[in-house]
Amino acid sequence: MGYFRPEIEAIAGYKPGEQPQGGKFIKLNTNENPYPASPKVAEAIRQRLDQGLEKYPDPVGTAFRIRAAEVLGVEPDWILCGNGSDDILTILTRGFVGDGEWLRLPTPSYILYKTLAEIQGADSEEIPFNADWTLPESFGTASNHLKLAFLPNPNSPSGTVVPKSQLRSIADSLPCPLLIDEAYADFADDNCIDLVKENEKIMVSRTLSKSYALAGLRFGFLVAQPQMIEQLTKVKDSYNCDALSLAGALAAIDDQKWVAENKAKVVVTRANMTQRLRNMGFTVPDSQANFVWATRPGVKLKPIYEFLKQNHVLIRYMQYPGITEGIRISVGTDGQTDVCLDLIEQYLQQNS
Ligand SMILES: *Cc1c(COP(=O)(O)O)cnc(C)c1O
Repeated sequence: MGYFRPEIEAIAGYKPGEQPQGGKFIKLNTNENPYPASPKVAEAIRQRLDQGLEKYPDPVGTAFRIRAAEVLGVEPDWILCGNGSDDILTILTRGFVGDGEWLRLPTPSYILYKTLAEIQGADSEEIPFNADWTLPESFGTASNHLKLAFLPNPNSPSGTVVPKSQLRSIADSLPCPLLIDEAYADFADDNCIDLVKENEKIMVSRTLSKSYALAGLRFGFLVAQPQMIEQLTKVKDSYNCDALSLAGALAAIDDQKWVAENKAKVVVTRANMTQRLRNMGFTVPDSQANFVWATRPGVKLKPIYEFLKQNHVLIRYMQYPGITEGIRISVGTDGQTDVCLDLIEQYLQQNS
């Protein structure tokens, strides 16, 4: 068409996993939580609604920042609220990476990072994970044009984690900030909030979409040192979080008991899924997230995805050309994952 900036017309655009509208699918394709959120969330939203919506919301989400700071062991000015953590990633890309500059990311990982770089007119530099999902030290290599690095930890689609000691040394050698995307950290044994306190170059993003079962609410946040938050606040939309999501997010972060109980259920189901898939012959790395990644050289995996879809079970088939292909299955309820794994077993029996 020629009306748009050339970088916009050139890109394919990020395609999120399928979101069928209508309830007949078992959805194990976008890592949503299978359990309902804390009932306190809906209650808080209802109460906020009763107060009316004619006024603008708090532009920085003060009440959420105070409570989240207590939960995380930082101060409120270490937190930036976002309209989902995708908003946080957008703010960071805009804040740090200019036209023609570089954003580093590992691959295979979250595909949105690359799209954000492309929209910005920046170049993304993809560093492949090793075959065993360890991260090469070259992720920390300094270079002139490099302005920001994104690293999901636990990673998607693998569910694997990079050890903290390595993250520390990578951040030390990088010439730019390192964003550790902790979308799945609530399902993991450890997290990197303490690294943020050690090094202003290390920032951590979180979301309520997965571990708080609030993907529909759209709320995420960044944890970084206050001098970083202060600059990034200039980049965000003035009212990037609406009054209802702020009210819901506050109630959600306040209910840590719910998060802990949810994690306990997910971790048990995750272990069972991993074992069953391995018994069927898949290679499945130990996952620290609410999904598992299964590969199987010699067996075509896309037909498995299609067979499941015909049977109203959605999982994610992912292909990283020249690197790997696999299926990513979100942890559902025990009942949902049993249906899914029974179908995979059935498919393999019929096609062996
Ligand atoms: C789901 C996901 C997010 C996005 O979370 P939202 O808060 O829903 O925008 C960010 N990073 C990774 C790695 C994810 O998987």
